[in-house]
Amino acid sequence: MSENDVSAPSNFIRHIIDDDIKSNKYGGKVATRFPPEPNGYLHIGHAKSICLNFGLARDYGGTCNLRFDDTNPHKENVEFVGAIKKDVEWLGFSWDDRLYFASDYFPKLYEFAIELIKAGKAYVCDLNAEQMREMRGTLKEPGQESPYRSRSVEENLDLFERMKNGEFGDGAKVLRAKIDMASPNMNLRDPSLYRIRHGVIHHQTGAQWCIYPMYDFTHPISDALEGITHSICTLEFEDHRPLYDWILDNISVDCHPQQIEFSRLEMQYTITSKRKLTALVDDGLVDGWDDPRMPTIAGMRRRGYTPASIRDFCNRIGVTKSRNEVEMGVLENCIREDLNANAPRRMAVLHPLKVVITNYPAEKVEELNAANHPQQEEMGRRLVPFCREIYIDQNDFLEVAPNKKFKRLVSGGEVRLRSGYIIRCDEVIKNEQGDVIELRCSYDENTLGKAPEGRKVKGVIHWVSARHAIEAEVRLYDRLFTHPTPDAAKDGGDYRDHINPASLRTLTRCYLEPALGEASAGDSFQFEREGYFSRDPDESHGRPVFNLTVSLRDSWAKMEKKG
Ligand code: ATP
Ligand code: MG
Repeated sequence: MSENDVSAPSNFIRHIIDDDIKSNKYGGKVATRFPPEPNGYLHIGHAKSICLNFGLARDYGGTCNLRFDDTNPHKENVEFVGAIKKDVEWLGFSWDDRLYFASDYFPKLYEFAIELIKAGKAYVCDLNAEQMREMRGTLKEPGQESPYRSRSVEENLDLFERMKNGEFGDGAKVLRAKIDMASPNMNLRDPSLYRIRHGVIHHQTGAQWCIYPMYDFTHPISDALEGITHSICTLEFEDHRPLYDWILDNISVDCHPQQIEFSRLEMQYTITSKRKLTALVDDGLVDGWDDPRMPTIAGMRRRGYTPASIRDFCNRIGVTKSRNEVEMGVLENCIREDLNANAPRRMAVLHPLKVVITNYPAEKVEELNAANHPQQEEMGRRLVPFCREIYIDQNDFLEVAPNKKFKRLVSGGEVRLRSGYIIRCDEVIKNEQGDVIELRCSYDENTLGKAPEGRKVKGVIHWVSARHAIEAEVRLYDRLFTHPTPDAAKDGGDYRDHINPASLRTLTRCYLEPALGEASAGDSFQFEREGYFSRDPDESHGRPVFNLTVSLRDSWAKMEKKG
């Protein structure tokens, strides 16, 4: 966490906590947790929850636990556990020694289930899933009581123990809470507390258990066992709160955390459903969980996002109870502002066009002095080699200027090379198809670093020395989906039909100034006049790969205004 991370702006959850502190509800304590299920990588929505929970602990002098909610071993694994820990740390937060697994509590949860059975508040039910669904009723009609609801405590204790001992097959029996089949809240119509799952190897407990507690039973008890004060979750759990409270009111624990719900983060042009992100990975529609187009923390890290920019984003979007869909531009502005202030400037030519400076000596090399940042002198300077043959970008040359706004190089015109000389284009060389393949230019040796009197050269373009340049691959990314709400597009298809075919464009022959050869994976730069780029960890190409993090300006906002 950087020094200048101020505490987050206030929100309704902070008001609740302020009141609780005033009334000494939890002895002034603030204890939160972040409870991911290790069944996928974390995404930008999780970042919101992480910043919220760990941010509250930080600002109120409390604690925030990392707890893996691992009650569904079928889809969970240790790869995800490791990835989640790495992402939380990378975002700048620490759980210190408070790393927990809900599976740590399996023995205690089993005891609490027995306590409910003994109190006549839970029973073993033999209905299958379909029968249970049919008897659950609807929002308008009450459900029907299970014929097994009146089993004696002794019978329930015996059957539950035999469930644990593996005597029954998957789905043959469940343990249910005995609450109210006529409750207007469907979650209170005798919800399942335990189910049978044979043949799965749990990543923490191995083959020790063949019954697994349900989320709604596990979560409140895990919170209570850890002494959580404020159990913060997303709005879809609002209807589960009465069950959360019922569980804690009916077992012997002395801690009763308060569940508070907030609206989940949804973002335009992407998805934040783990199930759907998993499908993108499994179907090979992206190049893994850390594909730089993915809204995952791992993807954003690889793309070049910084932890500070993501924390800044989470502060800006705030925490409320109303549904909102955040524009991608808000996130992009956060990273753009961070990199504008902090990324060193470098020159890179993405679409090379060779330029021969005919009046420059063939063997001569000059080291031109260039600032690493236009405003921040303390970021230092570097030397950029210059010689007779250089590359400029194809987009910086046109034979004839299309309009007065075109300040780049034209046939017969002049332009300044960034941190270098003014050159004039004397000759344009084309191939048989008429494409421009090379320019012959001449330079003016009196123009280094100073404006010659009476000469107006408005354009400044970037360049690299052909002899010294490093060849690199550059990957240009665009939004992963073409539809602002790919999940809810109303044309009968599904989100996969809206994948942007141009979301990745690979430029295989780019030239970088030599200083970029020293960049390590994850280092970020502004490629002058092009955008912000980050070195990819991929070394398999025998040359560096750079990812476009974000463009210099918000080109989407402009396009959307034009329509
Ligand atoms: P999904 O429904 O996509 O599988 P999840 O909510 O089941 O996601 P968990 O691993 O259980 O994923 O999430 C851990 C925590 O992160 C939970 O407290 C959850 O409420 C929160 N969270 C998940 N998605 C979002 C989101 N889009 N915005 C804010 N918080 C989120
Ligand atoms: Mg969940």
